[in-house]
Amino acid sequence: MNANQARRLVVLGTGGTIAGRATQANDNVGYVAGQVAVSDLVAMVPALAACPLDVEQVAQINSKDMVLGVWQSLAERVAEHLDRPEVAGIVITHGTDTIEETAFLLQTVLRPSKPVVLTCAMRPATALVPDGPQNLSDAVAVALQPDARGVVVVCAGRIHGADDVAKVHPYRTDPFDSGDAGPLGCVEEAQLRMFRPWPQAVPERTHDAPGLQRLLGADALPRVELIFSHANADGEVVRALLAHNPVARRLRGIVVAGTGNGTVHDDLLAALKQAQASGVAVVVASRCGQGRVVPHSGQPLPDSAGLSPVKARLALALQLLGI
Ligand code: ASP
Repeated sequence: MNANQARRLVVLGTGGTIAGRATQANDNVGYVAGQVAVSDLVAMVPALAACPLDVEQVAQINSKDMVLGVWQSLAERVAEHLDRPEVAGIVITHGTDTIEETAFLLQTVLRPSKPVVLTCAMRPATALVPDGPQNLSDAVAVALQPDARGVVVVCAGRIHGADDVAKVHPYRTDPFDSGDAGPLGCVEEAQLRMFRPWPQAVPERTHDAPGLQRLLGADALPRVELIFSHANADGEVVRALLAHNPVARRLRGIVVAGTGNGTVHDDLLAALKQAQASGVAVVVASRCGQGRVVPHSGQPLPDSAGLSPVKARLALALQLLGI
């Protein structure tokens, strides 16, 4: 069976608001995330009845509580299904809070040559007008696109790449932005309009197997802390981290969200240099919501190569794992 004949989809549920339940239909914020089974979410979208699907509940959590164990299970299930020739793509239902981290992790570790489409909702499944069913339906349209590949996030009719997507709003039903790069495309009545190429995929395989093995073999992610530079900052947090550094959870890295073009308060920088001297990897990102640190010869710390502080933290942890 070649890729164009593969039409089967796999839907993996991990929880989130899309699976949330509130006691009142008009309550879009006071709900409990991760309550409704992914099979019931699929059943709410009549159009999916015509599509051959396998549905699996991998986790049932609020994504703010994401842990390595869930990422490992998810990556393993994704890789296993990607290897099935009849599977065209994978849809993952997920909470919006850390969807950008899960998407980035899956793209960095697996670089899949079929589409892996994460989707979500800002309103619970019990809402008067839930946004989940349309997002799920759009995600399925993306996962069935014959030339699609890589890990993307689909929400509110837009397709975002794993490296660029960020949650930028805590309430509205289109809470994601891809910064200067913009979304990869959009989904309109199940038709795709692409503006940019799909994310990079590993050649001639369904996913990057060595990356997956390293992730699955980890007992914990290397400890990388994320701190901010700000007015009146000092180095106390860094000095405290260095002073209380248990062998079992040894500090391996610090990402500092710097002001503007990755600048860091002098007092904080002195402490970060001390951390660097003791073998801790230090990376600077920008706390600005858009743009990147523009490299220059005078910069005192290595920068995150355009990654947001949150993704730079994860990237450094994965790098320390050898991925
Ligand atoms: N806290 C929820 C979660 O990330 C938010 C959401 O899904 O919108 O699981």
